[in-house]
Amino acid sequence: MNHIPLSNIKALLLDLDDTLYAYPLCHQAGYEACKALAQDKYGIAGSEFEYAWKTGRNRVHQDLHGQGASHSRLLYVQKASENLFGKSNPQFALDIEETYWRVFLDTMVFNPGVETFLQEAKDKGIKMCIVTDLTAQIQMRKWLKLDLGRYIDFLVTSEEAGVEKPGAYMFELAMEKLGVKAEECAMIGDSEEKDVKGAEALGIKAYKV
Ligand SMILES: [Mg+2]
Repeated sequence: MNHIPLSNIKALLLDLDDTLYAYPLCHQAGYEACKALAQDKYGIAGSEFEYAWKTGRNRVHQDLHGQGASHSRLLYVQKASENLFGKSNPQFALDIEETYWRVFLDTMVFNPGVETFLQEAKDKGIKMCIVTDLTAQIQMRKWLKLDLGRYIDFLVTSEEAGVEKPGAYMFELAMEKLGVKAEECAMIGDSEEKDVKGAEALGIKAYKV
């Protein structure tokens, strides 16, 4: 991230997941903890849990495509519970979801160099907004875990915007909050499709990390 030029911009739009921290590590830790809980507390074999999670996730992706809630772990495991128990089991769903995010957040740390970069941008007076696909509550919990308020001014989630990246409204909402125009800001993210192409479609400079 440190190679990204900070001259001639007033604001930065930043993706969160897999840009500021390593998503796969956190996901894997959370997922393994859920598998262990399902086994120990509910007597569900690892392979059964994996199948139910995958099936639930795929159905939620399909039903809610393009919305923030399409990534909701709570909905994945609600559907997983219906697959595993033959009926809805909110106790199981809430239990697994809570464990997933607790372990996920415990594992979360900044990628190397990210804090130095954010500090440098802040020192230059550059305003920053997180632009992220997912529901507001968990993205706010991630914000608190990384203490992003030390650097970042605003948050835009796809739940709030009603569309996901690369949808224009995600970026427009961020620019509105920051009070800047497209040519005054730059976008940084890990996804070519969502972050880079989404921003470039509006004439925002974009950098893939
Ligand atoms: Mg990302």
